[in-house]
Amino acid sequence: RFITFEGGEGVGKSTQVKRLLAKLESRSISAVRTREPGGTPHAEAIRSFILQGRSESWGAGAEAILFAAARLDHVNELVGPSLAAGKWVISDRFHDSTRAYQGLTGGVDDNLIGALETLALDGHAPDMTIVLDMDPEIAFQRVEQRAVEDGLVLTGDRFEKEDLDWHKRLRDGFLEIAHANPDRCIIISADQTADALEAEIWHAVHERFPE
Ligand code: C5P
Repeated sequence: RFITFEGGEGVGKSTQVKRLLAKLESRSISAVRTREPGGTPHAEAIRSFILQGRSESWGAGAEAILFAAARLDHVNELVGPSLAAGKWVISDRFHDSTRAYQGLTGGVDDNLIGALETLALDGHAPDMTIVLDMDPEIAFQRVEQRAVEDGLVLTGDRFEKEDLDWHKRLRDGFLEIAHANPDRCIIISADQTADALEAEIWHAVHERFPE
């Protein structure tokens, strides 16, 4: 089983990915937790390159290709072999993020996004995608709150660089992807406590894969 989590920033994906892993492990289901961009040493190198802003002036099309290169390595080295070994793979972001960020929000042509998906997925489309949905204004408050608690300064963060309208377009992008792929995607409101969200996610996963 291959499950991906998607959504905008501050919706709590990482926490829920960890919680789902714990739940699977408690049921003796062998599962691998991973993330994108990243997941393998080469893909993590591309992640650092992009997140350090070194490709910022390259344009969304070139960035989409970088994300796809990272994804191909991730799929070949980790996702594919883990699935072949009978493990569940749970990824914090996957190909829908490229479509949402670089495609629907960044303006990269749909044909390029589609071609990159075919290349990078190499037949490994997720079985289930959980789209965590939240009003970006609330998500922003959460990110700010977390930063204050962690003593972080949010400079360089996309929340600083991009405005609220951009985050609203991103949210709409994820919803559009989910509606276009109803068999694979489920939209879950992230505007609830982590415990309630965990329970709703587990219910959805269990319903999809009852074994
Ligand atoms: O989910 P996470 O916060 O780890 O993502 C790292 C960053 O990469 C985010 O700030 C997100 O905006 C960005 N990203 C992106 N395009 C993608 C995937 C992630 O801009 N396709």
